[in-house]
Amino acid sequence: MKKRNPTREVRIGTMVIGHDRPLAVQSMTATQTQNVDATVAQIKSLEAAGADVVRMAVDGPKDAEALQSIREQTAANLCADLQENWRLAERVAPFVDKLRYNPGHLYHLEKDKTIGEKVAFIAAAARKSDCAIRVGVNCGSVDPDLIDRYGEDSIAPMVESALQHCAILDELQFERYCVSLKDSDPLKVIEANKRFAGRRPEIPLHLGVTEAGLPPEGVIKTRVAFEQLIAQGIGDTIRVSLTVPNDRKGEEIVEGRKILDDIEHGRFRSVPGDLGSGLNIISCPSCSRVENEAFVELAQKVKEVTRFASKYNLTIAVMGCRVNGPGETDDADLGLWCAPGFVNLKRGGASLGSYGYDEIIDQLLTELNILIESGAPQRG
Ligand code: SF4
Repeated sequence: MKKRNPTREVRIGTMVIGHDRPLAVQSMTATQTQNVDATVAQIKSLEAAGADVVRMAVDGPKDAEALQSIREQTAANLCADLQENWRLAERVAPFVDKLRYNPGHLYHLEKDKTIGEKVAFIAAAARKSDCAIRVGVNCGSVDPDLIDRYGEDSIAPMVESALQHCAILDELQFERYCVSLKDSDPLKVIEANKRFAGRRPEIPLHLGVTEAGLPPEGVIKTRVAFEQLIAQGIGDTIRVSLTVPNDRKGEEIVEGRKILDDIEHGRFRSVPGDLGSGLNIISCPSCSRVENEAFVELAQKVKEVTRFASKYNLTIAVMGCRVNGPGETDDADLGLWCAPGFVNLKRGGASLGSYGYDEIIDQLLTELNILIESGAPQRG
C-alpha cells in the first residue's frame, strides 16, 4: 500500500486527524437535534460503538439552542452541521468542536453578502471557540455557476468548489480545516478525492459515500471507494452512511472500523490500482458467499509461498466466490477465485484455467515465475 499523503494535523476536540494519525471514524445522529434526550442518547450509543466524532444537524435556532444542554451531557467530540444556516455558526461554536458547512448551501440566504464574507464569519466563530471546520462539498448541492462552467464533467465543479473554499480559508489564515467531496456514486467519490488530493495533498480528507443506502449494499459501495482511496494514501477520517434505524446507528462505526482493519491487513473486495512498490497480496474479506472454507487457508498459503517475489511490483488477488471473484480479479496481475470444488486462475482479465485446491499453488508459482522471467518491474 502507498504511504499516507503528508496531510497536516487538524485537532477536533480531544482528537487529531491527519499526518500519520490513525484514520478517525465518524458518524452522525439521526434524531431531531432539538430533542435533547434522544440526541444525547444517540451520541452516547455512537460513542460506545467507538465514534471519534459525532455530527449533528443544525437546521434552525431551536437546534442551536439545544446544543448547550447536549454539550453539558456529553464529552464526545461534536460537530455541528450548519446546512444553510451559516449565521448560526456564532451560536453553536461554543458548544461543539467542529463546524461543517457546505459551500453549495452558502448561496441561499443573505444574497447581498459575498461567499467570502460568509466563510469569514464561520471561520471567525470557529477561531473564537476553538473549533475546526470541515468544508463539506456534496454532489447534490454544488455551486450552480461551477456546474454551468464545467458542463458534462460532474466532478470538476465539486473539486473546484473545494479548492475555492480552501483558498478563502487560506487567505483568512485559518488552517484548522479538512475537506470532504461526497457523492452517492463510489466511482465519483474516488475520482473527486483523487483529483483534489492531487492539487492539495496537505489538506486532510474526510471520506464518505453519501446516501450509500441499506446494508449490506451500502457497506459494499462505501468499502469500494475507501479501498481505492486509502490504498493510495488518501483519506484521514471516514464516515460510512447507512440507512439503518436509530438504534442501529452504531453499525456505521462498526462497519467503518472493519473496513479500515481489512484494508490494513490486505483484505480487499476490489483491486486498487497502483498499490505501490513490491509484491501485494490481497484477499477479499470473505462473506456468506464463500462456498469452500479452504479459501481462507488458500489466501494464507499464497502469502507464504510468494514471499520470494517480494521485490517485484505485482499484485496477486485471492477472492472467495464465483459471484464477485471473476470480475474483481481482472485488475490483478494474477487472480485466483474460488468455486466450490476448484480454483480459477487468471492473468489480468484472461483465464488460465481451473485447478483443484491441491494443485493451484504449484500452478500459481509457475505463472508467477513466468511473469518474473518476462521482466516484471522491481521495487526501485
Ligand atoms: S469476493 Fe465473494 S466471498 Fe469475497 S467478499 Fe466478495 S462476495 Fe464475499
